[in-house]
Amino acid sequence: MQPITPPAALPPLLILVVDDQASSRSVLGAQLNAAGHQVIEADSAETALNLFRQEHPDLVLLDVEMPGRDGYWVASQMRAAESGGWTPIVFLSSRDQDQDLWQGIESGGDDYLVKPVSGTVLQAKLRAMQRLRRMQLRLIELSDELRAANEQLTKLSMEDGLTGLPNRRAFDARLQQEIQAAQRDKQPLTLVLCDIDLFKAYNDSLGHVDGDACLQRIAQLLNETCRRPRDFAARYGGEEFALILPGTPRSGAMTFARAVLRSLELTAIPHQQSTVKPFVTLSGGITTCIPEAGTTLEGLLRRADDALYTAKSRGRNRFFSFEMQMDTLEQRAAG
Ligand code: GH3
Ligand code: MG
Ligand code: MG
Ligand code: MG
Repeated sequence: MQPITPPAALPPLLILVVDDQASSRSVLGAQLNAAGHQVIEADSAETALNLFRQEHPDLVLLDVEMPGRDGYWVASQMRAAESGGWTPIVFLSSRDQDQDLWQGIESGGDDYLVKPVSGTVLQAKLRAMQRLRRMQLRLIELSDELRAANEQLTKLSMEDGLTGLPNRRAFDARLQQEIQAAQRDKQPLTLVLCDIDLFKAYNDSLGHVDGDACLQRIAQLLNETCRRPRDFAARYGGEEFALILPGTPRSGAMTFARAVLRSLELTAIPHQQSTVKPFVTLSGGITTCIPEAGTTLEGLLRRADDALYTAKSRGRNRFFSFEMQMDTLEQRAAG
């Protein structure tokens, strides 16, 4: 018998040797050990399956003729046991008819060797299986990388690059979901559209870099004012932000708006060009409803946008709601 040398550049394998004859197992085991591989042995179909499940070998050398369940049965059970994975299975048999090889491959084997197997042939087959295994592992790695890249892409396509808030696409998707949920649960849903006041003047006087920094701070402020887990703040576009407040009635919406205004006042980002306040302010349009079958995303947005327009025309730095026919300033005045 020719000596078997460990395969160059290919890592040693954990090999499950299945054979009912102790002598066959020990001959094979010695060959494989000499080649640097690690060997576990099974003398029956049942033991083989148990070891296969417990030890997850890299390769199985499987005797065909065994008392009780034969090797073909073992192979088909092994194939059924590995979900999505693939462990190379090589049959060893003294039967040398074409039909035997055919049955071996049919039952899930990857190769079929006729006993007695020469050391050189065995080594060559193992090397081929190792190469396939390495390619398979690389494929798994690649598909993991692909999945991660896809997740990253999905995230990026839903996120606004400047502020890190969800973007309009993500907002539309969420609003659609929340309309349906609120309709099903008969719960109020509040939608708020905010627009920074006189932001063009801010940009024109301080430049785009400061303008961007201001957008980031406003985004953070709005996000922080969203206290409940399902509240959702998004950058709707340019200097506009949109908020979804599920389960929030009109009164709650006004409380939220006042909290935003107070926060802006405390943060007091200087805005010398503003004719409203010496700091950056927002105007907001609010709409609150318990959605019905005919309630649409477009309808809600239009209503909030109209309310925003009213807040602007009433002097800015305020939130307006048609449903309440009042804005935050009146509320403040009313105490
Ligand atoms: P109003 O109170 O009526 O909303 O006045 P406004 O000046 O805020 O509104 P207008 O629509 O005239 O201008 C919005 C400005 O927002 C225009 C643009 O310079 C600025 N802007 C929009 N997107 C960005 C951005 O991503 N970065 C910066 N720096 N500025 C932006
Ligand atoms: Mg046998
Ligand atoms: Mg605007
Ligand atoms: Mg504006």
